[in-house]
Amino acid sequence: MDKVKNIAVVAHDNCKKELLDFIDCNRNAMGRHHLIATGTTGRLVEDLLADRTSAAGGGADRQLVTRLKSGPLGGDQQMGSLISDGKVDVLFFFWDPMEPQPHDVDVKALLRLAVLYNIPTASNRSSAEFLISSVYFDNEFSIKKSEFLAYANRALE
Ligand code: PGA
Repeated sequence: MDKVKNIAVVAHDNCKKELLDFIDCNRNAMGRHHLIATGTTGRLVEDLLADRTSAAGGGADRQLVTRLKSGPLGGDQQMGSLISDGKVDVLFFFWDPMEPQPHDVDVKALLRLAVLYNIPTASNRSSAEFLISSVYFDNEFSIKKSEFLAYANRALE
């Protein structure tokens, strides 16, 4: 993956505050990359970044966030599709460990694809801090292809 990465951000409602605070605290680092987000998370991230940009008297450098559908309306599946197309380099997915979601099956599918495609993934604040502190966050990195991807060429009787 390139130095400039496609960074996916998703947070369940009870975890949105934490993700937004993380992005705010790491605004410069996140700002060097392209963000992709599920609908509501993306709207909040855009608002956060726009607020900070206008407070700083800026505007031209407003960061682009690609917004997908809201998670429960198909956004998690869209994100999974982007992963399988090789269009996501890093995933920050703060999922809620305390409440079931209407789209639990989609959440599971997204997490499964992230593992399958060997995508660096952070699901809580500590992992996110470790990930963003990695030397690879701003440098090229070669993702080792998962052995599972040989599945399509498996021998059949
Ligand atoms: P949301 O979706 O950003 O639209 O709230 C998050 C999720 O995947 O549940």
